[in-house]
Amino acid sequence: MSTNDDDGDEEFTTTVYYDDDADLGALAEQTVAVLGYGSQGHAHALNLHESGIDVVVGLRKSSSSREAAEAEGLRVTTPKNAASEADLVSVLVPDTVQPAVYDEIEDELGPGDTLQFAHGFNIHYGQIEPKEEVNVTMVAPKSPGHLVRRNYEHDEGTPGLLAVYQDATGEAHDVGLAYAKAIGCTRAGVVETSFREETETDLFGEQAVLCGGVTSLVKQGYETLVDNGYSPEMAYFECLNELKLIVDLMYEGGLGEMWDSVSDTAEYGGLTRGDMVVDDHARENMEEVLEAVQDGTFAREWINENQANRPSYKQLRQAEKDHEIEAVGENLRSLFAWGEDAEAEGETAETPADD
Ligand code: NDP
Ligand code: MG
Repeated sequence: MSTNDDDGDEEFTTTVYYDDDADLGALAEQTVAVLGYGSQGHAHALNLHESGIDVVVGLRKSSSSREAAEAEGLRVTTPKNAASEADLVSVLVPDTVQPAVYDEIEDELGPGDTLQFAHGFNIHYGQIEPKEEVNVTMVAPKSPGHLVRRNYEHDEGTPGLLAVYQDATGEAHDVGLAYAKAIGCTRAGVVETSFREETETDLFGEQAVLCGGVTSLVKQGYETLVDNGYSPEMAYFECLNELKLIVDLMYEGGLGEMWDSVSDTAEYGGLTRGDMVVDDHARENMEEVLEAVQDGTFAREWINENQANRPSYKQLRQAEKDHEIEAVGENLRSLFAWGEDAEAEGETAETPADD
């Protein structure tokens, strides 16, 4: 594990930067290479471009995204050529692909150039060991790329994180802030963090709570009802579908707004039973999950899994697809108005009574 910033006495006080704290001037004379044109790549490239920054997109020869990028008026070349031209290289290919792409471009990084990431995994776990003479920054929007783009187009911002791993020029922080401004993050607010903190909290959050914890909770709840003779449709509604309503309330106003909005019965039942389900044992398991993130066990496992062509990952993915709740949900979603169209627009379906 190689990190510059895990000396244990790091401060976790929060600094938030807004538009006025950032100066696009730090990127004014620079060319920015955006490697990858996927979720984050297309959003960063287009936002930077419209913020007046000189952008070149780096894509492999076979890339299916080339046409889309060119149609938006962006210059496209290979990752190596883009990096050669650029003063700042933003690495926005999938995390598992980044070490190989870095090998391709390493020779093109000169003294004072900036290597920019949207997630700290490869730097934090030593999969990319950047040259000493380059700045290494992270600007990580806390949203999928399509929202980073859509918010920018609507003159709104996307909250983000900023971290500096290596400051070769003494200006890495200013460059990172300028980048955050150019993609629209400082409109909403950018929180200062470190590569270590971002990587470890991100992995823990997605494993224990957001992706792993929630899906397990949903499946266990569903199975408990169905195994006790209740209909799969009812179990789906109660344990999966309604989760969105609860999460929306928490998103808007924290736990308090959610508790205020549900019935007193739901509140009392939830307050007394929640900790029975997710109990001290679950907490111990969470500590284990965190430890495996901190000591690199998870990172090694995931790197090995990829090197072996993902055997367990493929199996687990298939098992998840085959879970009964998926078929039940697909059928139910096709029967109701909260199907794809309403969701795509981010609107709730209107009933005739609304007219
Ligand atoms: P995507 O999976 O959307 O990236 C796809 C892009 O990478 C495509 O342009 C693809 O090009 C290119 N690519 C894929 N494989 C290769 C390869 N072998 N060689 C060269 N190019 C390749 O990535 P994301 O946008 O999801 O992630 C980028 C970074 O952003 C990651 O570090 C991620 O952790 C971070 N991040 C992602 C968020 C998200 O919501 N998605 C949120 C915050 C951070 P092609 O057209 O050739 O297939
Ligand atoms: Mg995340």
